[in-house]
Amino acid sequence: MSDTVWLSGITAHARHGVFDFERENGQEFTIDVGYEYDTRAAARTDSIDVAISYADVAATVHEALIAEPVYLIETLAEQLARAVLAYPKVDAVTVVVHKPHAPMAVPFSDVTLTIRRTRLTLVPGEPVRCVLALGGNLGDVPGTLRAAIGDLSERVEVIAVGPLVRTSAMTIPGSPAQDDYWNTVLVIETDLAATELLAFCQQVELAHGRERHERWGARTLDVDIVAYGELEVETPELTLPHAGATERPFVLVPWAGADPEARVRGLAVSELAAAARGEILEERGKWL
Ligand code: ATP
Ligand code: CA
Ligand code: CA
Repeated sequence: MSDTVWLSGITAHARHGVFDFERENGQEFTIDVGYEYDTRAAARTDSIDVAISYADVAATVHEALIAEPVYLIETLAEQLARAVLAYPKVDAVTVVVHKPHAPMAVPFSDVTLTIRRTRLTLVPGEPVRCVLALGGNLGDVPGTLRAAIGDLSERVEVIAVGPLVRTSAMTIPGSPAQDDYWNTVLVIETDLAATELLAFCQQVELAHGRERHERWGARTLDVDIVAYGELEVETPELTLPHAGATERPFVLVPWAGADPEARVRGLAVSELAAAARGEILEERGKWL
């Protein structure tokens, strides 16, 4: 549950805009910000240390508003949202940018942009290092995985590719036996928000004939987000790091191969991988 604190009318003279004269002269911008957090602990304790100081948030917004000029109100709004989401207790933020003196030929009273962001939907300020797990057990899986890596590299930067490993299928007890799985792990960098990255992974799955029927059913291609930077969240849409990240041998072994220094939930992936190695039926280092 989240409540919302609204700060309205935070105003500054700033130089955002696409025209030279906007850069030179600047103009007035006004920001409304609604930040969401569960206020019950603050209500219970009546302690400012438990609350989020609205004065601090207002100062943060003002500071971000007068920082380096950007061309677009879209960029500005995202930066303001990012600044407010840097407060760990904030779950979500709505930012309204007003640019009442925007250069326009027709009479008007205001231009506004409203965005709402969570840590899952926020566009990162710099590329985020992520870990993707790829696998499947229908068709020519190594071939599909190679093609999928090619597809993924059209939109994200592939930094490292782990070994290809084969394991017995993980199935729901009582369900029919399945062919073995082939899996690998990629380290990537991306400027996509986490939800955009998930949508892109699902698009690549679909392009390779993924069909969803029963849970943990056989599949041509599964692409999971194992980790998105240091982000830790649990929502119906995305759990990060992935719920199986510390347990699944077919994730840990290729992950340790792709990034021997990696850590997950405070644990060394290479140590977890060493303990899980017995489950691996076959491993191919050079397979691309
Ligand atoms: P598992 O998640 O146990 O590996 P699966 O990959 O077979 O199972 P899918 O049917 O591919 O499950 O995905 C079901 C849903 O899981 C997705 O629609 C997605 O919203 C959600 N999900 C939650 N966390 C993640 C994550 N870290 N990466 C990918 N999907 C996730
Ligand atoms: Ca999966
Ligand atoms: Ca999946």
